[in-house]
Amino acid sequence: MAKRVAVFGGTFDPVHIGHLRSALEVAQALKLDAVRLVPNALPPHRAAPNVSAQQRLQMVELAIANEPLLTVDARELKRDKPSWTIDTLISVRQELAPHDQLFFVLGWDAFCGLSSWHRWDELLEHCHLLVLQRPDMQLQAPAAVHALIDNKVATDWQEITSPAGSVVFLQQTPLAVSATQIRALLSEGENIRYLVPDAVLEFIQTQGLYRPV
Ligand code: ATP
Repeated sequence: MAKRVAVFGGTFDPVHIGHLRSALEVAQALKLDAVRLVPNALPPHRAAPNVSAQQRLQMVELAIANEPLLTVDARELKRDKPSWTIDTLISVRQELAPHDQLFFVLGWDAFCGLSSWHRWDELLEHCHLLVLQRPDMQLQAPAAVHALIDNKVATDWQEITSPAGSVVFLQQTPLAVSATQIRALLSEGENIRYLVPDAVLEFIQTQGLYRPV
């Protein structure tokens, strides 16, 4: 039986309930076997000053520890520079069986900017695109993106039988939380309980992360 796996990339700086609910809802909506959270390497100027890639990874590990549908994949952190999405997808694909289905999860905004991505026109050779749409958004993709997805949109994910090559849209209402907001609260000494899992909160506190430098 073919497996159905999704890749959900992000900086997870830190991981929060918005990421986790979104990933879990994706897993359930498409009856996936797993959603892999893939923390991105950050160029030094974008990294939070006192938080290492290893610590971002550890927070994701703590966050998903009790949820079998979510896994963490550290491959981008093992390289010494930020990875192109296409390279990550090719390397994940190599570990799957030929008939397994691979979905790459991206938000509507990212999808609209897809034509600026490295080797973007090859992405669908390796995965399906799973585009999360916010119900409240004006949906108008640029012409270049339209050309890419022409004839590839699956109105029902259950029709998809191939390992890659389709585009699926999923309506999802994101929780109103962002890592930027969490870092700002922490830098002001505010309480972030309930915005992240308790284990992540405890890690942030014991390691003294996101404090003003
Ligand atoms: P930052 O505020 O630092 O930009 P972020 O909270 O947006 O971070 P990222 O790690 O950059 O988080 O996002 C990873 C992925 O999670 C992206 O696809 C993004 O669209 C999605 N995401 C971020 N916040 C939410 C949320 N509240 N609900 C659902 N998805 C989210």
